[in-house]
Formats: sequence, C-alpha cells, structure tokens
Amino acid sequence: MYRHGLNSLIAIIAFATLPETAFALDAAGVLRLADREMGGDHLNTVRYTHTGSEFVMGQSFRPGESWPKWNFDSKTVSINYQTGAWSEALNGNRTRDVIPPRGGGDPSGPRGIALTKDGLAWVQFPQGAFPNPWTAHDRNHQLWVTPHGIIKAAIRNSARLQWKTREGKSVAAVSFTEPGKFSATAYINEDYLVERIESRFPQTSYGEVPVITTFSEYRDFGSIKFPSRIRQTHGGFPSLDITVTEVRPNDPVDIVVPESIRQTTEIQKLTTVKAADGVWFIPGSHNSVAIEMKDHIIVVETPLTTERGRAVLESAKAAIPGKPVRFVINTHHHIDHAGGLRAAVSEGATIVTHVTSAPLYQRYFSEPRTLVPDELAATKRKLKLRTVGDKSEISDGTRSVEIHHMRGQGHADNMLMVYLPKEKLLIETDAFSPPPANTTLAPQNLPLAANLAENIRKLNLDVERIIPLHGPIVPLSELQRAMGPRQ
Ligand SMILES: [Zn+2]
Repeated sequence: MYRHGLNSLIAIIAFATLPETAFALDAAGVLRLADREMGGDHLNTVRYTHTGSEFVMGQSFRPGESWPKWNFDSKTVSINYQTGAWSEALNGNRTRDVIPPRGGGDPSGPRGIALTKDGLAWVQFPQGAFPNPWTAHDRNHQLWVTPHGIIKAAIRNSARLQWKTREGKSVAAVSFTEPGKFSATAYINEDYLVERIESRFPQTSYGEVPVITTFSEYRDFGSIKFPSRIRQTHGGFPSLDITVTEVRPNDPVDIVVPESIRQTTEIQKLTTVKAADGVWFIPGSHNSVAIEMKDHIIVVETPLTTERGRAVLESAKAAIPGKPVRFVINTHHHIDHAGGLRAAVSEGATIVTHVTSAPLYQRYFSEPRTLVPDELAATKRKLKLRTVGDKSEISDGTRSVEIHHMRGQGHADNMLMVYLPKEKLLIETDAFSPPPANTTLAPQNLPLAANLAENIRKLNLDVERIIPLHGPIVPLSELQRAMGPRQ
C-alpha cells in the first residue's frame, strides 16, 4: 500500500509547481513511511554479520591508486542508534587479495575490535584499549550510513526532499547535514527502501571525502528489512563489497568508552627525548623528530590528525625555543602519516615530500572544508611544497639533513627516509618497526625490512642508530637481528 501512496505522490508532484518550502513536510512523511516499511521505527540496536572484501582507506601503494584489497571470512558490526555507538569485530581470517603485497594496512598484530562512541575511536584488545583518533569521523559516518541509521539521522536533521529519476524510476532524495559530522543524500525507492546514500565526511588528510553506499537484495531479517548486498566507494575508489549473512535486530549493544581513551584526547603536551645534540625524538603510536638548524627547525612527520600535528609542532618549538618550524618532512602519503599536515601548512612550514605525492596534496589542500573548519580553515595559509626525487639535502653549514627516496619499497612507492650523517642517525618508517625494549621481536614484514637494509647499503649510509616512526630508537644491529641469520 505504501507503493501506491508514493506513486500517487510522485504523480501529483510531477505535475505541480509547488514552491520549495512545500516539500519540507513531504520529506518527514516519506521518512516516516520508509522507517515503518524497513522496521526502523522500533529498531534501537542492530547486529549484523557479513562476508566479503574491504579496501584499506588511505594506504595505496602509489598516490592516486586504489586502496589495498583484503578478503575476510566474516565480520560483525554492532550498532546502538540511541547512544551513537558502533563496533566492528573480525571473525576468522583476513587476507590480502594481491600477493606480494602492495601498499599499507597490514595488521601489526592481533586486530582487536574497532569501536566509536562520543566522538572517540579506539581499538580494544584483551590487554587494553588503544586510541585511533584519526578514524573517529569515519566510524561515526559508517554508523549512520546504514539503511536504518540514515533514516534516523535524516529525521533528526530535518532533511529536505527532492524527487529525482534514477535508472528510469522516480526516487525520493532526502538531503541533510549533521552539523560537524557529515552530510548525506539518501535515495528512497518506490518500495520505501533506501537504495543509495551519497555522503561526505571530514577526514583530516583529505579534507572532505565523498562516499557512495548502495544497498540491494533486501530481505526480511526478523522484524526488519535489511539489504543482503552492500557496496561502498570512498573518493571514487571501491572501499567495501559485502554480503550480509545474519541480522539481529534489537540485540543488546552496550558500548562504554574506557577511561583511558577519554583521557588520551586531553593530553596535548607531548614528551620530547633527546636523541643527539639538537635532535629530539617525540614518541607516540606514530613518532616524530625535531631537528635544530641554525635559524630554524625541521620536523620529520606530523602524523594522525591536525590536533596531533599541532601538538608535535608545539613540542618541537618548546624543545628548540626561539626558532620557527620551516620544514616538515612527510615520509609518505598514507593517511596516518600525512594526517597532521594541515597543522604544518597552517604553521607556515614548507612540506617536503616525494615528487609523486605533490598532485595529491595539491588537490587535498584546495578542497573546501566546511563540515568541521579547523585551524587551517582559519589561517587560510596556502600549501608550500618542496618535492624530492631521489635525494634532497637541507644544510646550513652546521648540520646536513639528507632526504632519500627508498627505492623498491613494497609498503609505498614514494617512501622517504632521513639521514643525519654527522649523528649517523637514520629516520625511517613502516619498513622496520622495532618492538619496545626488553620484549621479543614482533614478526616483521621481512621483505620491507630487507629493502631498508638494501637501501642503506646501496646508498652507502654510515648508520649507527635507527629512529623508526613506529617503536623505540635502536642500534642498526636490531634491523639485522630482525631479519635473522644471513641466508
Ligand atoms: Zn604507511
């Protein structure tokens, strides 16, 4: 009977010339009917299990390439629409689609359960919770671009309605913005089912990411209708392709933010550890390094988020007072390593990166950012780039900083490493990540570590210690130990 009602409404509207404002009421009506048809009006929580493929956002082998594809046995997503909480757990295995691997996104250990609530994001392991702040907007967005979530979000944000034709059929397009979170248009078909969502959410590296989510093959799962096929693209690249196998409406979903996660967001003052005269190590899940030059500071990496990038810059200036940060060296384009570059640009620093990353950054930094204006939106500074081909050097007569391209590195095609010849220090990332001191070596991705060793040898670098951007500073011998006895 809903079908009949919607067709009549389309017929009336098609021939009417109503002013825009008249459609506001109709949006609420369409949403109410869709909510009832899909069973969303009595749905507070949902748990669904699916199988298929995912593509790890922002971890492409080369800038502008699609993201690395992984196939997984099964995942379970749990959502509480009332508390705005979401979690995702992997059941069984997850394997790369392409071997040998190209690009990042490798699990560095057990995967844990990914969660979000209250604007916070973290991963839960049996031994504790680890913050994932750079994924908070993405996970919150995922929670609401579900078939029932989008209707609830559209209702609470007073969506606007437009009638559109898609593939020869009339669809109701309801659009809205959830302030500070995301914007979306949901397409509701003649059966009152959501078949497509076009949305945008803020991502600290990319500005705002356009996402398209499609739902098909709806089935009855208990008291609700749910699509058995879900596909998604991010920024034009495939990101998800899944088949839903089980849906449990109103299964209890109680997600509590761990106290340690609430506190981490408040820590903005980072510690700095002296690695050599004028060289400061700034530890974290992603480390940074501050290097003192005669009249300026060079920072290696502003990772994760604009806030983390800002904290790194402030720590560098506190350790090396009275000098400006003139250069920020970005090791590669991956989302976690480039996540704080907006703070670096708003500081007025020049971004030093591989030449193949330049077009990507030029595009990101010209994108408008309106959903969540940040410090760069306020300072309106322009991106300044210095690109590196095989090698570049920054020198002021007292210290020389060499920047080298890592050739043949499977993690990414554009990886830079930084060598300080006087101090015999090498700063690298993602090729070799030593575990904390006094622990056994975690399994390394040996081809990546071997490639690092080969680059050191071919470039004839006299390295005593490695400063990795994941893990503690170690002597070069640890790299050799990780690779085991020479074959
Ligand atoms: Zn990476």
